[in-house]
Amino acid sequence: MYLFSLKAKLALIILSLFISFDVDCKWISHSFEVMGTQSTIEFEVPSEKIAPKTLQLVIDEMHRIDALMSPFKPTSELSKINRLASTTPIHISKELYDLLVKSADFSKLTEGAFDISFSSVGYLYDYRNSVKPTQKQIENLKKNINYRSIRLNKKNQTVKFLQPLVKIDLGGIAKGYAVDQCIQILKDNGVVNAYVSAGGDSRIIGKKDNRLWYIGIKHPRDKKRLLVNLPLEEVSISTSGDYERFFEKDGVRYHHIIDPKTGDSARGLQSVTILAPSSTTADALSTSVFVLGLNKGLKLVNGLADTSAILVDSQGRLHYSDDIARLE
Ligand code: ADP
Ligand code: MG
Repeated sequence: MYLFSLKAKLALIILSLFISFDVDCKWISHSFEVMGTQSTIEFEVPSEKIAPKTLQLVIDEMHRIDALMSPFKPTSELSKINRLASTTPIHISKELYDLLVKSADFSKLTEGAFDISFSSVGYLYDYRNSVKPTQKQIENLKKNINYRSIRLNKKNQTVKFLQPLVKIDLGGIAKGYAVDQCIQILKDNGVVNAYVSAGGDSRIIGKKDNRLWYIGIKHPRDKKRLLVNLPLEEVSISTSGDYERFFEKDGVRYHHIIDPKTGDSARGLQSVTILAPSSTTADALSTSVFVLGLNKGLKLVNGLADTSAILVDSQGRLHYSDDIARLE
């Protein structure tokens, strides 16, 4: 067990005046609000001296990505794209450009089920205030949902929309990306055992006290229950569900995962969990498989290396990708 020096203890006490975290000698654990959700960082302290600094680096990284990619912050680079890219090519940071390329790759892989331009209609939903677009608004704006209308120019590092009313949103991939970035920072700082989550996206490295990590998947219809609690190591795990942000009107559930073909919430599944090597991939795929539905979704996952899925259909029945089904 690590023993903290007096100096390091003092540093931790001073830091804890600004951010709260629990230290039980070996592990640091901290939860905070970012990207409109709860993030949790848990890691084994590699050296007592650098623990507070490392935690702060990870917290800062989450906030940095939020400031860059939030569709709600007018100062974000993403908001600038949404304001201007219909009229002129916009030069953007390499980081955002690369994530747009990755998003386009997932659009191609999923035949358009994953499409960041879903927001051309999606921005009209307000889940907090139970507001949805009218059928007429959906019909008028739907043609703007098309990832092929997002023109990326590698040489100039620019983005341009080919339709006038396109809007993009990285909500289906940015949290996974943020988790990957934070895990990299922890690794760069000598951390071997860690858990990082942002909402339904998490990633683990190493072990938890020499044992496997246990990651719970929420029950889509009972907040108090877990669907399963999985012993895992060295993996990313992302869940997309119709229960996180939703409202009901006339007996219909409207939630935040939009089928690009209809501009309406994707129906057919209650929850999709993806296990994959990177959190960016797991995040994008969980949203994609939710849109694709049971059969197409499982077919996609079964064709991908190192990728597994646990699905809950509209009747609450569980379905697994072939690799997990074989274990049963
Ligand atoms: P959460 O944001 O709760 O972690 P998901 O990973 O499933 O859940 O992502 C849902 C988010 O993905 C939505 O809030 C929205 O920002 C975005 N999104 C919705 N539909 C699509 C889609 N068809 N393609 C890409 N992104 C989408
Ligand atoms: Mg996702």
